[in-house]
Amino acid sequence: MSTEKVVTRFAPSPTGFMHIGGVRTALFAYLWARKNSGTFILRIEDTDKEREVAGSIDHIQQALAWLGIEWDFGPKKPGPFGSCIQSERLAIYKEFAEKLAAAGHAYPDPYTPAEVDAFRKQSEAAKKPFLFRDFRPATFGAWDGKQTLRLKVPEIKRFKWHDAVRGDLEAGEEALDDFVLMKADGYPTYNFAHIIDDHLMGVTHVMRGDEFISSTPRFLSLYQALGFTPPIFVTLPPILRDDRTKKLGKRDGAKDVLEYRIEGYLPEAMANFLAFIGWNPGTEEEVFTMKELINRFEIEKIHKAGGAYNEEKLAWFNRQHLLRLSDESFAEHAATFLPDSISTTSAIFSRLLPVMRDKITLFNEISALFHPEGELHFVTTSPDYPADRLLWKKNPSRETAGKHLTEARKLLAGMPAGEFDGNPTEAADKIKAAVFPYAEANGRGDVLWPLRVALTGQDKSPDPFMSAAILGQQESLRRIDLALTKLSAS
Ligand code: GLU
Repeated sequence: MSTEKVVTRFAPSPTGFMHIGGVRTALFAYLWARKNSGTFILRIEDTDKEREVAGSIDHIQQALAWLGIEWDFGPKKPGPFGSCIQSERLAIYKEFAEKLAAAGHAYPDPYTPAEVDAFRKQSEAAKKPFLFRDFRPATFGAWDGKQTLRLKVPEIKRFKWHDAVRGDLEAGEEALDDFVLMKADGYPTYNFAHIIDDHLMGVTHVMRGDEFISSTPRFLSLYQALGFTPPIFVTLPPILRDDRTKKLGKRDGAKDVLEYRIEGYLPEAMANFLAFIGWNPGTEEEVFTMKELINRFEIEKIHKAGGAYNEEKLAWFNRQHLLRLSDESFAEHAATFLPDSISTTSAIFSRLLPVMRDKITLFNEISALFHPEGELHFVTTSPDYPADRLLWKKNPSRETAGKHLTEARKLLAGMPAGEFDGNPTEAADKIKAAVFPYAEANGRGDVLWPLRVALTGQDKSPDPFMSAAILGQQESLRRIDLALTKLSAS
C-alpha cells in the first residue's frame, strides 16, 4: 500500500442549490479522506461565470456543514496551494497555459465561429464526427493570453485506464480532441482547471459521477501533455429513481438538501441514508453514525450499478437516528417545532419529550401534534367543551359522570406528588395502578371517559393515564375541578 497521504476533494460548480447527488459525492470523498487520516478539500469551480448563481457558494457550505462534512481547506480557508476558489487562481492557470503553449502542446484558436461552423458542416457532409483536431492549423503564433487556447492532443491513440470502481476502461481515438483550455475571457475551462488543481492540491482520489467517464481520455491526454501523473479515478454510481428506470431528476425529488433540514430530518440520518446509495458495508447493519461510517467505508464496497433513492428508507433512517438521540439533543431539535406556548424550560416540556419521540418520524410532525386536531393539543390550552361531552355514551348521566370524576379526583390527589414527576411512561403506569381498579369495578367507560374528556377535552388524545402524567398532578386536578363545575352548572 502506498504511504502517500490521501487527499480527496469535492469540487462543485456554484450553479444552484445542492441536491443529494452532489452531497453524496461530497460524503464519499469526505469519508475516504477521514478514514485514511487524510485531507478533504472543498474547491469551488466557478470558472463559468455565465452559469453561476448568486448565493450558491454559501449554500454549498451550509449544506455540507449541516451534514457534518467538514473540510480542511475551502473558501476562506486556503491551503498551502493557495485559494480553493478557482476564480481566485486565474494566474496559476494562465502560467500553466503559457507553459503548454510555449512547449507546443497548446495553440491559440485562430478561427471565427463562422469558420468553425463551416468545418462542422464539412464533417457532416463527409459523415464523420466533427473533431477540431482534423482542422488544426498547420502553424500557429504565440498565445497572447487573450485568445481561446486549445490543447494540441499530444498523441492520438486508444486510452486505457483503471477506475477503482468500474475496473479497466478504455476508449478509442474518437474520444480525443483539441479541447479548449483557456477561454477568451481569461477563465480556464473546467477540463483544464480541475486537472491543474487536482495536481497542485495533491489530490490522490478523484471521486465523482459517471458523467465524467466519457471525458476521461481527454483528461488523460492533458495529463500527458502536462507531464502529471493522473490520480486514482473513483466513479460513483448514479442515483436512480426509486423505480430504477432512470437517474433521479429534480421532478423525482432531487431537491435542495437544506429543505430536508426544514422538514425535520436529522443530518446524521441523511448522511447514513446517502452513504447507502451505492455503498454498503457488506453486512446486515444499517444504522451508523458519521464516525462509524468513516470506520467502515471502503472504496472496494462501492457499487458499480446505480443506487435507488427511496424516501421511505430515508424516513426509516430518520426514525432510527431519532430514537438514538440523547434527551438533550432530542429536546434541542424538538424545540424548533414547538408551539410558542410551551416553554422549553417548563416541566411539561420535559414530560412531553418521550411522548413526542414515540409519535414522530420527522421533527416537523411535532407541530402537527399540537394543532387543534392534533393529539397533544390539550397540552397548550385549557380544554373547552360542552358539559355533555363528559357523559359516557352508554350511560349519559351527569350524576354518574360527576360521581366517578369525584372519585377519580380523590385517587389522583391521594398519590404522592413525586409519582407524577419524571418519566411520563412510568408516571402513567403509577396513575393507572391508582385509578384502574376503581374503573374495573365501576365500569371502564363510565369512569375513564369523563376522566379523559376532563383532562383533554378531546376525542383523540393519549389515554387518561398518560394525559394526566403529561399534565402533572396540579393541572390534572384543576381540569377535573373545571369538569365538575361544568357538570353541576345546568
Ligand atoms: N465542477 C464539476 C461539477 O460540479 C466537478 C466535477 C469533478 O468532480 O471533477 O460537476
